[in-house]
Amino acid sequence: MSLISPWRADFPGILALEAEGQTYLDSAATAQKPQAVLDALLGYLASGVANVHRAQHLPGERATRAFEATRSKAAQWLNAARSEEIIFTRGSTESLNLLAYGLEHLLQPGEQIVISAQEHHANLLPWQQVAKRRNLELVVLPLDNTGSIDLQQAARLIGPRTRLLAVSQLSNVLGRWQALTELLTLARTQGALTVVDGAQGAVHGRHDMQALGCDFYACSSHKLYGPDGVGLLYGRGAALAKLQHWQFGGEMVLDADYHKAHFRPAPLGFEAGTPAVSAVIALGAALDWLSSLDHLTVAQHEAALHAELLAGLQRRDGVRLLGQPQLALASFCVDGVHNADLAHLLSEQGIAVRAGHHCAMPLMKGLGLSGAIRVSLGLYNNGEDLQRFFSALDSALELLR
Ligand code: PLP
Repeated sequence: MSLISPWRADFPGILALEAEGQTYLDSAATAQKPQAVLDALLGYLASGVANVHRAQHLPGERATRAFEATRSKAAQWLNAARSEEIIFTRGSTESLNLLAYGLEHLLQPGEQIVISAQEHHANLLPWQQVAKRRNLELVVLPLDNTGSIDLQQAARLIGPRTRLLAVSQLSNVLGRWQALTELLTLARTQGALTVVDGAQGAVHGRHDMQALGCDFYACSSHKLYGPDGVGLLYGRGAALAKLQHWQFGGEMVLDADYHKAHFRPAPLGFEAGTPAVSAVIALGAALDWLSSLDHLTVAQHEAALHAELLAGLQRRDGVRLLGQPQLALASFCVDGVHNADLAHLLSEQGIAVRAGHHCAMPLMKGLGLSGAIRVSLGLYNNGEDLQRFFSALDSALELLR
């Protein structure tokens, strides 16, 4: 299997880093951008900007058309039933906070919100805070030792008091797909709302919202090879109608008086103020670029690189993987070595990986760790990037042990 990325040359950022002697293996934090995204960004900014949904003039109409075209592309990308089911936010974190505020009025004291032990803080803290405000019980589904949510425990813990289930599709630390179909069915059977944190999952493969049947799905443009500052929040029509408005300002209102206002429905009712117009337009270019790729070739390249990463880590003495990662990334620690020291020595050799708690402190504490190193892959990575990483790892470990 070839470990050469056919798309590497499309990413000026990865080539620039390479020229600087940097090997970028931190794509789960944020991904480099293809040329098509840079062209779209500059093309829009250089051709005369305007605000969207406000003006009748030509630049305003042009900006609105391009902005709304991204909404249609995102709806197609996720196979939403209608483009109105896509809300633009600033990222997955904002999407999840929007949901926590927007759904709070449906939750009564004593009811349960269910999350899992693998959650990123973005899909933990908003629910934890709602639980505190509304006197709800926050139930945490345990993982088995592969890193999968334990379905038997989930069947026991999701019950008649469960009003909402919020789980991540693919953990940013453990790299395992969760059994969403089974988990969502358990929640739906209890009449609970379902939220999927797709920040990592959305980057790998295509996900069909109508087939998945979740109520809400959150993801971030910057991890999907698009610009930062934009998130997508998918909401199934009937579920969107239940959301309470949360941010207030320009363009989200149908009618306003000094003492009352009548708000727009989704999506515009949840996009108060001037959105990140240029970034949304460039996200459209990222989705076009991703859609133009052969999905089998992408999946094969991702799988081959990941297998190489796992094999290399497993061959090394004292290296302990966290769980059994299936895709995209692997986190590990080394017996007797602090992750920060290792990350420092890797960084000195030009290896860009992430160290620490990965915004999942409770998960780390549960594993008895203060942190771990995470290597994460993008479409542009080659086998050579992994060779450079392993040779730097060996030198670092020689010094540290
Ligand atoms: N959820 C998961 C699983 C993540 O990995 C991340 C970011 O790393 C987030 C949520 C938050 O995404 P963002 O920082 O783009 O809001």
